Amino acid sequence: MNTTVNNNSDQIKGLVFSIQSYSVHDGPGTRTTVFMNDCPLRCKWCCNPEGLFSNPILLHSNVKCVMCGDCIEACSNGAISVEKEDLVFDRSICDKCTTMECVDVCLHEGNSISGKYYTIAELMHRFSRERAFWGDKGGITLSGGEPLLQKDFILPLLKECKKAYIHTCIESTANVNSEYWLEVLNYVDWVFTDIKHMDPDKHKSMCGVKNNLILKNIKLLAQADWWNGFVVPRIPIIPGFNDDDENIIKTAQYVKEIGLEVINILPFHRLGESKYRQLSRTYLLENQVAPTEEKMVHIKTLIEKEGLTCFIGHNTPF
Ligand code: SF4
Ligand code: SF4
Repeated sequence: MNTTVNNNSDQIKGLVFSIQSYSVHDGPGTRTTVFMNDCPLRCKWCCNPEGLFSNPILLHSNVKCVMCGDCIEACSNGAISVEKEDLVFDRSICDKCTTMECVDVCLHEGNSISGKYYTIAELMHRFSRERAFWGDKGGITLSGGEPLLQKDFILPLLKECKKAYIHTCIESTANVNSEYWLEVLNYVDWVFTDIKHMDPDKHKSMCGVKNNLILKNIKLLAQADWWNGFVVPRIPIIPGFNDDDENIIKTAQYVKEIGLEVINILPFHRLGESKYRQLSRTYLLENQVAPTEEKMVHIKTLIEKEGLTCFIGHNTPF
């Protein structure tokens, strides 16, 4: 399914699952971060599972739900049942539902929709309102999900940003068509992209796809005639998956070999866990532990020994 809606050429719409104002962790300065739907990866630790869908999706909060039953009556598809004093949604029906009568009828915010279509003009209007708060270095960041899957939307959006002298960042999986990658990134100032594992099969076991296209695209970008660009590879540190010395050293050597100078390492966290419940999904890394501070410092030392600069978490100079 194509996430971007293009009913006529003036009304291209992009599907967005969140917009965060005053963001200070998604690039230099203070930023407005737009989280775009859809993703080619399925990382088991994903903290934005609602962004994996290419259509608006129902979220149900059993914390807010008071079990009044109004949504059960409202649903014309009969998709809700009650089990052990909780609502159970038939996701084979709900995930494709376009009417979502169960949302408006709920007076307690038990049901909500994640994912809203925006035009470029609507986003530009929001950027212009928030611009005063960005400061000298700030701007906008497109995140996700994978923003490049909505290329028909983000390419004209980024062109508008450039016309308005807005600093642009993108957080991308890099697992996209190489031609699109290079074309769109011509309009981007900074790119953040993950190298989650150097081994293609291990990468696939935790992320759903091999890493070949990702490594190829990062290299293409690092070596392209990219006039204004700055690329920051990131490694999300998942103990037991990618935190061994061998993988870290291989990653650092690859980054150095292709001509980049910085790696940002991010410790595993479980901030997105409750969203899995709201989507009636199982969180697969329930028993996963976070790396210790000592481990993060050890990884930083390994990377720096390879001649690169390494930043831990949001401890960056930008
Ligand atoms: S209408 Fe809202 S509060 Fe009532 S059962 Fe449905 S989700 Fe719960
Ligand atoms: S999302 Fe649609 S099918 Fe699912 S409970 Fe709501 S109205 Fe029914």
